[in-house]
Amino acid sequence: MEKVANETKNLGLVRLFARTGLMSIPLPDPITSAGNAEVKRLRSLHERKFRRQTGLFLAEGMRICTEAVALGWRLHRLAFLDGRGQDRMVRPLLEALARDGGRALPMTESLLSRISGKDNPQMVLGAFEQRWRDADAITPDPERCWIALDRVRDPGNLGTIMRTADATGARGVILIGDCTDPYSVEAVRASMGAVFNVELAAMSEAEFLTLAAGWPGQVIGTALPASRDYRSADYGSPLILLMGNEQAGLTDALMQACTQLVRMPMLGRSDSLNLAVATGITLYEALRQANPPEDG
Ligand code: SAM
Repeated sequence: MEKVANETKNLGLVRLFARTGLMSIPLPDPITSAGNAEVKRLRSLHERKFRRQTGLFLAEGMRICTEAVALGWRLHRLAFLDGRGQDRMVRPLLEALARDGGRALPMTESLLSRISGKDNPQMVLGAFEQRWRDADAITPDPERCWIALDRVRDPGNLGTIMRTADATGARGVILIGDCTDPYSVEAVRASMGAVFNVELAAMSEAEFLTLAAGWPGQVIGTALPASRDYRSADYGSPLILLMGNEQAGLTDALMQACTQLVRMPMLGRSDSLNLAVATGITLYEALRQANPPEDG
């Protein structure tokens, strides 16, 4: 992994010190050129190859970056609109940067737009360090279920599933086989910050089958051929909820690894639900069974 954290020298002329209460943080001159190496490096994080090389990913917006820092995520770079280094909301991010040995990058709006790929960029963009759990960290949890996704391809689906996982108190998402990257700009955007609050692991189908074989609780798969209605399944903990690929559904081997297979009724002409919608419906049924509503 590139040693971006150590590149704190050669900051250029210190133009201004942002007062942060307890300490002063030096801010470099604003970047104005698209040829700047830092701009190119942040822009490259749109590509999986560079996210893999650096172990970093982009997150956009003040709220999301602030929450990530509060949750202890390591911030390597903070690109922000020049002149906003003194803002009350930017200061805690600058403090986190100083603590983590990262670099503050004031720049023009057009460069923020270039990095984000959007016409109306957020005022701050953070480059954070990715976190991946090892397979042996996927432990049974009596309170919080795991969601396993077989070859999920669509970053919007994955981001929406992370958001719904967070909303329903799930522990994390296991990516099985060749999946889209949860740290892509599109998936992170769709997660609306939930990427920082769910655990992530990636494994082969064979590794997942081993995990499922030793799992002490339910492994519930959702599949169109299933005969059991999703509302009559037993979602008792510890639970893994297993969802299929957008085109092909679950492989036969994964279906066989399930303790229960469930389906959601399809009353109209559509033959299936969108993957993220199906995940949301099932997660809320699991939540309803675990915590029946008090108001009815
Ligand atoms: N043609 C695919 C198939 O045959 O499974 C459709 C896949 S569907 C778009 C993606 C995933 O969402 C499925 O593999 C399953 O996990 C879940 N899903 C969607 N609709 C479902 C339903 N009505 N019942 C059970 N699972 C469903």
